[in-house]
Amino acid sequence: MKAAVLETYSQFVWKDVPTPKVKPGEVLVHIKFASICGTDMHIFPGDFHPRTQVPFIPGHEFGGIVAEIGEGVTGFAVGDKVAVDPIIWCGECPACQRKHYPACTKLKLLGVDLDGGFAQYISVEPHMLFKAAPNTPDEHVALVEIYGIGFHANRRAGTKAGDVLAIWGAGRVGQVILQAARTKTKGTIFIVDPLESRLEIAVKNNENVVAINPEKENPVEAIKRYTDGKGVDIAFEAVGHAHEIEGVFTPVRSCIQSLRGGGKVCVLGLGDDPSPVVFKELIWKEGQIITSRVSDGEFAEVIENLNAGNLKPDALISKVMHGSEIQKAFELLNNSPEKYLKVLLDLS
Ligand SMILES: [Zn+2]
Ligand SMILES: [Zn+2]
Repeated sequence: MKAAVLETYSQFVWKDVPTPKVKPGEVLVHIKFASICGTDMHIFPGDFHPRTQVPFIPGHEFGGIVAEIGEGVTGFAVGDKVAVDPIIWCGECPACQRKHYPACTKLKLLGVDLDGGFAQYISVEPHMLFKAAPNTPDEHVALVEIYGIGFHANRRAGTKAGDVLAIWGAGRVGQVILQAARTKTKGTIFIVDPLESRLEIAVKNNENVVAINPEKENPVEAIKRYTDGKGVDIAFEAVGHAHEIEGVFTPVRSCIQSLRGGGKVCVLGLGDDPSPVVFKELIWKEGQIITSRVSDGEFAEVIENLNAGNLKPDALISKVMHGSEIQKAFELLNNSPEKYLKVLLDLS
């Protein structure tokens, strides 16, 4: 098979590698499309070293068609369309014993800790597969994983009907939090980002969204104005860094300031720098800060919503390129974040 191998950091090579052999208890998936994630953008130059060890095959957002079924596997047939959940948890650590799998201390991801989906085939255990409807476009199947992040965040935050929300960051994660939230509440959703192109995608594809560019107006003041001083029920942080725009506090602190009394902040951004928080601002509201990492089986909920037409996957896809063009795809994403949200790799 062909695969996009990260031979050394910052250098992909599209080349022949051995097709995985299906072991008993596994299913061979012929991967159709894989989606490039922000995490991949960090893996590419070596930010994840030594967790990632080159040469290896990244890719944790992908799906395809069942190609072969290993001995003893039931419930799948050759030709089934499937999304692959890349998470492997240990089952033994204190978090796993409490079924809190995203917090597994030994959590591994296909495409990060092991070879992943930037390849034409992968062999996985059937519990990692979620069947999509036969008529779902293959491109959309590759987005089930990232939608899972959005649905998981909403589950962690407890989004419910009527809630008014704010989302800091209209990148890949912010957009899936938004689309997932839209399936749960018709309340106003504020979305904050300095990139107009990303705000536009959010507003065009989702009802009752108010875009706020923090370089043009202070988002906390804008939210207070729109909500008659009340604030939002939940504020999500999907920025991932603590840089301040002049006159605006860091994303997490701004989230706290935009809350109503008793509201919640749900933090997803994986920055390395400390993010200053004034706890008095949270305590006065008796607010909560919660976090959300990866997903926890929300694939089924995503597929249901895809089938019902409740999501807008095409809104996320900026460009589709062939797997052999992967090096160029990473360069485009690095050089022009304002133009590209999701780039999909066609692995056929
Ligand atoms: Zn991802
Ligand atoms: Zn564990």
